[in-house]
Amino acid sequence: MHGKLYKQLMGSREWRRLRARKLSANPLCERHQAMGKVVAASVVHHIVEVESGASEAECRRLAYSWSNLQSLCRECHKEIHMQRGTWGRDNHHEREQERLGQWASRLRHPDPWKQAPGGRFLSEGGQSSEIT
Ligand SMILES: [Zn+2]
Ligand SMILES: [Zn+2]
Repeated sequence: MHGKLYKQLMGSREWRRLRARKLSANPLCERHQAMGKVVAASVVHHIVEVESGASEAECRRLAYSWSNLQSLCRECHKEIHMQRGTWGRDNHHEREQERLGQWASRLRHPDPWKQAPGGRFLSEGGQSSEIT
């Protein structure tokens, strides 16, 4: 399949909204969580590859269905794709997601440093300032 459709699906406002919702519902890496570790998620991964859909409708369904989404940190995301052998292909998608992630966190917290002078408050509890 058609990188063009994938790009189109991932560039839509619907996806940006869904992705932001997923990251606020599951702000921690689900793979690390399963191992009892707390790591901030920065990527929303599709459990079943969007590009494995046989038709445009199928790809769309895979891209936007909540149960196909997984919050992951960058390392876990890379590992999963390395295991699948789809890392190289997915690389530019991740860069795109990072850009969107910065946009989404700015939206949620327009100015985190105002709430946390010196960043001291944010570092309490060991959580990354990226997600708090
Ligand atoms: Zn992925
Ligand atoms: Zn992880």
